[in-house]
Amino acid sequence: MNSDAFTYRRGKLHAEGVSIESLVRRLGTPLYVYSQSAFERGLRTIQGGLSSLESFTVCYALKANSNLAIVKMMGDLGAGADLVSGGELERARMAGIPPDRVVFSGVGKTAEEIAAGLAYGGRGITSFHVESLEELGLIDRVARARRGKRARVALRFNPNIDAKTHPYISTGLKKNKFGLNADELRAAVSMLPRLKGIELCGLSIHIGSQLTSLSPLRTAFKALGSQILAVEAALGRPLEFADLGGGVGIRYRDERPPALEDYCSEIVRAFGPKSAFRSRLRILLEPGRVLSGNSGILVARVLFRKPRKQKDFLILDAGMNDLMRPALYGSYHELVPVLEARARGRKKKTDVVGPVCESGDCFASDRPVPTSLEHGDLVAFLGAGAYGMSMSSNYNSRPRPAEVLVSGGRWRMIRDRERIEDLVRGEHP
Ligand SMILES: *Cc1c(COP(=O)(O)O)cnc(C)c1O
Repeated sequence: MNSDAFTYRRGKLHAEGVSIESLVRRLGTPLYVYSQSAFERGLRTIQGGLSSLESFTVCYALKANSNLAIVKMMGDLGAGADLVSGGELERARMAGIPPDRVVFSGVGKTAEEIAAGLAYGGRGITSFHVESLEELGLIDRVARARRGKRARVALRFNPNIDAKTHPYISTGLKKNKFGLNADELRAAVSMLPRLKGIELCGLSIHIGSQLTSLSPLRTAFKALGSQILAVEAALGRPLEFADLGGGVGIRYRDERPPALEDYCSEIVRAFGPKSAFRSRLRILLEPGRVLSGNSGILVARVLFRKPRKQKDFLILDAGMNDLMRPALYGSYHELVPVLEARARGRKKKTDVVGPVCESGDCFASDRPVPTSLEHGDLVAFLGAGAYGMSMSSNYNSRPRPAEVLVSGGRWRMIRDRERIEDLVRGEHP
């Protein structure tokens, strides 16, 4: 398995020291289970790998998994927050993330969201990452309306680099909607003297997600470095920070993602004490998936097996509304039985599906699955900690799963299972 937080002990799947079977007996299925130590290990590895930098902050990308308990845990360990909406801003506030560790990305910020960012924690967030010239103008107007308040911003540079990932999660190509190209970047800098509500503090990039090679990142860091020097020359003063985005991939199946230590070395090489920048810039990072992905699983129960000649269908009580990635990207999640003995024996080509009325509600197609798995058995999808619960929906009026955080031999419910009353709240029959 791709995470040592989820292993078999005495033939049964455990999250750290807690038996999945025992959790399900109390809490039912579908159920998201997270490992606190897995989250912590990833964050500490990055923080350790960057320790030679003068100043850095790891801004956890909330959209990967925004449960308040997770965000608070990351904040307590020194992480900040990378936000993409006003809703995530409220989550960061509730989790107590200090304003000097909060950055706000996204191509479509509203005036209300900008105002909320300016008010955050009294002094406002550390940076709005600006993605269009019009947005820069709007931030300026909103800031000036707040009498003498200046918004700290970074310009998000789109370096036109192929991150070699799934097209839906590639963000650094000129055909993508994200960021400013080199011409727009220059135009933004030349607008600054007229924008009294703007304080330009840095540049940012984020070229895509689930990157399994360091080379596009290396190219992007170099391109960002050149842009920083060019902007500083135009401004006649140094910038304060460089935000290198997120995007480091994880192993779902047989990918060979870079080790976090190597990723950090690449950053230190580009911006650290021995680089041309001599560690004079504060470095911000925005990792999401690499911290949360293999820190969580989704547990489901087998409802039925529908045997067919060519392949069987295994029907679970979890659906695409609970874990959308396979339906959305065709992505792979390893499926393991909670009882290890069920993994042995004959396998048959199987489509593992949910109950949702869509043919796309399929977690795995043509997967060799043990024929011993039958009604009532428990299974788990690995690598479900990132873009799992945070992408879930109520499609088919399905209440969303409960979430549990395990630490050692202890566990804690961090989100109740939804009830139908939660779903219809606000409706007017
Ligand atoms: C989604 C996103 C991230 C996080 O990406 P991961 O691949 O999960 O690390 C970081 N920054 C921005 C701007 C994003 O949109």
